[in-house]
Amino acid sequence: MTYDLIVCGTGFASSFFLHKWLEKRPGSRVLVLERGARDDFWDQLEMGKNSSLESASLFSKSGLATKDWLFTVGLGGGSNCWWGQTPRMWPEDFQLFSRFGVGHDWPIGYDDLAPYYEEAEALISVAGPRDAPYPRRGACPQPAHNLSGFDRRMAELFPGEWVAAPTARASQPTDARGVCCANGVCGLCPVDAKFRVMNELASLYDETDAVELRLGAEVLAVNVEGGRATGITWSENGAERSARGELVFLGMNALFNPQVLKLSGDDSPLTGRRLNEQASLKLRVDFTDTDGFNGGSHITGLGYMFYGGEQRRDRGSVLIENYNAPAQLRSDRGKWTSRAVMKIVAENIPEDRNEVRLDEETNQPVAHFEDHSEYAKRALAEVPSEFIDQLTGVSPIEDVRIDSEIAPSEGHIVGTTVMSGDPADGVVDGLMRHHRIANLVVGGSGAFPSGPGTNPSLTIAALSLRSASALA
Ligand SMILES: Cc1cc2nc3c(=O)[nH]c(=O)nc-3n(C[C@H](O)[C@H](O)[C@H](O)COP(=O)(O)OP(=O)(O)OC[C@H]3O[C@@H](n4cnc5c(N)ncnc54)[C@H](O)[C@@H]3O)c2cc1C
Ligand code: SF4
Repeated sequence: MTYDLIVCGTGFASSFFLHKWLEKRPGSRVLVLERGARDDFWDQLEMGKNSSLESASLFSKSGLATKDWLFTVGLGGGSNCWWGQTPRMWPEDFQLFSRFGVGHDWPIGYDDLAPYYEEAEALISVAGPRDAPYPRRGACPQPAHNLSGFDRRMAELFPGEWVAAPTARASQPTDARGVCCANGVCGLCPVDAKFRVMNELASLYDETDAVELRLGAEVLAVNVEGGRATGITWSENGAERSARGELVFLGMNALFNPQVLKLSGDDSPLTGRRLNEQASLKLRVDFTDTDGFNGGSHITGLGYMFYGGEQRRDRGSVLIENYNAPAQLRSDRGKWTSRAVMKIVAENIPEDRNEVRLDEETNQPVAHFEDHSEYAKRALAEVPSEFIDQLTGVSPIEDVRIDSEIAPSEGHIVGTTVMSGDPADGVVDGLMRHHRIANLVVGGSGAFPSGPGTNPSLTIAALSLRSASALA
């Protein structure tokens, strides 16, 4: 039998693609191959972790010793462990080269993605502010979480630039989720308040005549005949199996998509290249008088003062996140909450020197990362002091602590199958179709040609909805 669609992986990229595909072509036959297990909500709480399969054992690293790459392998992928931050990218993020002369443009623009951002926000039930610093029609599906006192003061000082964080942590219950109660352990949310594929989109993976889900199925290669993808070979219970499909979708994240492409004979010069993610520093500021930690969720405020504009010619855009929970209280009498704990997240420029390679003995992916770009480092060297100067408007500052080293990981794996309208400068096109192998779609943040400070998963979801909408 030939399936209409074969989907590899069950994270954001795959699940939003499959959702739209089934909406457009309800009767089609779909095979879903997932390497991990079905670790349900209660199983995860009991294990104290998101997956029974250790992700660190599935790849190796070289280059910068402190760099790490985080992800979850299992039904629902990274939606199990993510923190639920859902800002959109800005229009200028898609035009980094043409607007600012650095990095690469996307072959699509904000307006192409806007309707799918809206749809993804509805499926996720995003809680967020009415007025965002990017164009959007109408309100978010759920009201924003309460701001902390510190956030409210910042919003007064920087109107339109300090806003409530849009998030997949529910401010109102849904049929599948409870309300976020701001305890701040969102990687394993004990009340199931954040969106996961397996709470809001679980019905996708119900056994039906249409969808066949195979767990413990490690995809090994795309079968390619005459320049077309004709199916998939995978390993299950120690045996190698294969199936034919009219269309193949790879949604295994930016480490495993390029691994499988390379094992399938894809010799595009950019396959695996431009591995990157944002670079960040934690900042803790103690004030004489402010009211931190009394907001309604984990991260409550976002600062866009250093995000957009001409500074991007010289340094990465910066997004500032305010960590309302878990409360990191001061020990000074009467000033327990006069503190703000923030993260300064800088955009990185994808560079060819950082790449996913194949381990010659095991065929596992090797994440080779030499360093963050000077563009990101310059932003992290300059923005903190400029930002601290702005913070004196909140209340006199008593103490400042800032990390001396860039954090090992943001949990975002970006690049390695980059998108371009020009096959010479990309692996996939604007609909994430492989340039050299027909009938093959490669989803996820691997396709991002640039790495702005914005968290990637809402954009991953919107790209998949757009691609499936066109291709189905
Ligand atoms: C701690 C943490 C916090 C995060 N917080 C946020 C956040 O707040 N906001 C945000 O936007 N993003 C966040 N992220 C990032 C987010 O998790 C990823 O962007 C997202 O999961 C990527 O989606 P994806 O579908 O491309 O890949 P994944 O979600 O990683 O899914 C890949 C799927 O493929 C499967 N798979 C892998 N290899 C194979 C194989 N060989 N065969 C078959 N199946 C395979 C996996 O099991 C998984 O189901 C966070 C990540 C981490 C680790
Ligand atoms: S803050 Fe708490 S309740 Fe809210 S999503 Fe995170 S862990 Fe869940």
